[in-house]
Amino acid sequence: MNASVPVDSAAAPLLGSARSNRRIMLLNRPVLVLNRLWQAIHVCTARRAFSLLCQGHAQVVHTDDGSFSTHDFDSWRDISERQPDPQMVHTSRWRIRIPRVIVLMFFERMPRQEVKFTRHNIFERDKCVCQYCGGHFDRKDLNLDHVFPRDRGGAMTWENIVCSCIRCNTRKGNRTPDEARMKLIRKPERPKWRPFAHLTFGAEAHESWKHFVDFAYWNVELGE
Ligand SMILES: [Zn+2]
Repeated sequence: MNASVPVDSAAAPLLGSARSNRRIMLLNRPVLVLNRLWQAIHVCTARRAFSLLCQGHAQVVHTDDGSFSTHDFDSWRDISERQPDPQMVHTSRWRIRIPRVIVLMFFERMPRQEVKFTRHNIFERDKCVCQYCGGHFDRKDLNLDHVFPRDRGGAMTWENIVCSCIRCNTRKGNRTPDEARMKLIRKPERPKWRPFAHLTFGAEAHESWKHFVDFAYWNVELGE
């Protein structure tokens, strides 16, 4: 946007004194936030997204037939005029689309977050595969097995908990894999991926997020 335009004058008609419930609802819509490396880092409201956009701190990522383009405030307003959308915020002079995804213009690291040690993430790590027989099962047919038995001091840790099918679990019983003559198909470790467990995507998550969230979920790995 033109640097000579005061930030507040651009944002004020959009964000100031929300008069209608519809506008309030639209301004509360979730927007996916990417950092400068195009990694999904969090979700903010459309209100916050517009504020960042008006200040030149972010640009809108527009998805069109599988390609992406980025837009500053003015360019986004032009797109909104050319390609109107049911979700538009109106001011007395113009209207603008609610962005789905924005990318920050300043550098922000991925939030450092360890993979939480949860049942869900253990299933994710082991991909619902029994770590003894290698069979793939429904979650409901898998147990969490203490590799070194719990009542003999085996810890509840990434390195000592694996998915196991009920049959293998029963067969192994209260023994170590060696004692049971069973072999782990893979050594259990803390996963390297970075889960977006803190981002919860409800029905509101938009299709255009999928690319970024999937990419980040599966591919982003930051060194320790
Ligand atoms: Zn099994």
